[in-house]
Amino acid sequence: GADSPAAAPAGAPAGHVPAPAAVLPLPVLGRDVTVPLVTGGEAVYAALDYAASAPALQRVWDDVAAYAPYYGSVHRGAGYLSRLSTELLEDSRRTVAEFLGCRPGDQVVFTRSTTDSLNLLARTLPAGCEVFVFETEHHAALLPWRGARVTYLEAPRTPAAAVEALERALVDREPYGPALVCVTGASNVTGELWPVRELAAAAHAHGARIVLDAAQLAPHHPVDVAELDVDWVAFSGHKLYAPFGAGVLAGRADWLREAEPYLAGGGASRSVARRADGGVEALWHTTEARHEAGSPNVIGAYAVASACRALREAGFDALVARERELVERVREGLARVPGVRVLSLFGDDAPRVGVLSFTVEGWSGAHLAAALSAEYGIGVRDGLFCAHPLVRALLGGSEREPAECGAPRAGSGERAAGAVRVSFGAGT
Ligand code: PLP
Repeated sequence: GADSPAAAPAGAPAGHVPAPAAVLPLPVLGRDVTVPLVTGGEAVYAALDYAASAPALQRVWDDVAAYAPYYGSVHRGAGYLSRLSTELLEDSRRTVAEFLGCRPGDQVVFTRSTTDSLNLLARTLPAGCEVFVFETEHHAALLPWRGARVTYLEAPRTPAAAVEALERALVDREPYGPALVCVTGASNVTGELWPVRELAAAAHAHGARIVLDAAQLAPHHPVDVAELDVDWVAFSGHKLYAPFGAGVLAGRADWLREAEPYLAGGGASRSVARRADGGVEALWHTTEARHEAGSPNVIGAYAVASACRALREAGFDALVARERELVERVREGLARVPGVRVLSLFGDDAPRVGVLSFTVEGWSGAHLAAALSAEYGIGVRDGLFCAHPLVRALLGGSEREPAECGAPRAGSGERAAGAVRVSFGAGT
């Protein structure tokens, strides 16, 4: 359990070493869940799938539970609980802005997730905006730019090559028109860190804006919008130790303020009136409310802010050190298995967060993942991780038509393709 750092749980494979409680100041829920094994025994469940969703922190659940009896509708309620909830929602915004190092004037829009945040930003692109995105991105960053002219950049093999490729592409574009670069901070497949600051400098030098997909970076690494000089950042609460359902898009206000509301409805509109011709006309807010129509997910926003506060207070040092140690242990273990290949774009020594994917010759990712679950109680992810072009590039194009991202697990070999991903965080 969280407080007994000594021995590995019965039935756990060698290498499953509980985190010393003292090293990790961020206890998570669910660490003591035991699961049955096919061998007849049971094991403390080892969730090594933080890149998909991290278990929420105990502190976050506690904060939400403490607030739950008091929550109320926000913005227009005159009652005490409505005013309290409105203040807590706005305070959550300030907490997130502080966590991300936002600049004065930046907006923090609460969304459902990173996917939602990037789709929202895609709806704010000025007319004629060109988009530049590496083919290696998660589908959430690859796909939302429908209707824009998108340049998909090939998978670079070094961070410097990524910067060069972006510069080349931006030099070739029509000058003076608006442009947006979308880039991940850390890959959800390889865990490798991307040269965000350098890419931002390249984007700005050529008159483009840049949005950082921090879905995988923010849970492992401080993100400072001003210091990285990115225009927007997007992340998901459920990967940052908060429960599902809330995400963030934060950054420059201008495109957000000038765009049509993401959702049209109450809350986004300042005033609505009948027109002389019988129609209806709305005046929209220019604050974050513009893109938060409908009753907002106050509890979700509050939970995200709670996670941000917990991470800020604990700092990332212990977490990063522990994740690095665990990645090394996995690598050492894997090195003893014949036919193992760790997936990497930038090379074995490239800095990475606590995320690592591998294949084993002769095994499908699905079979390996199933065996790890059934025999050891270890939960990992298998497949192509919603980054099909990247995984195909890493597997040298040998990957046959892939399993679908998020498709139900089929027993027919339909999901025979793909790799296995292990990912770490607080509580591992
Ligand atoms: N971007 C990256 C790098 C991710 O890893 C993920 C999720 O795995 C997303 C975006 C999408 O996040 P969500 O599913 O929370 O919208």
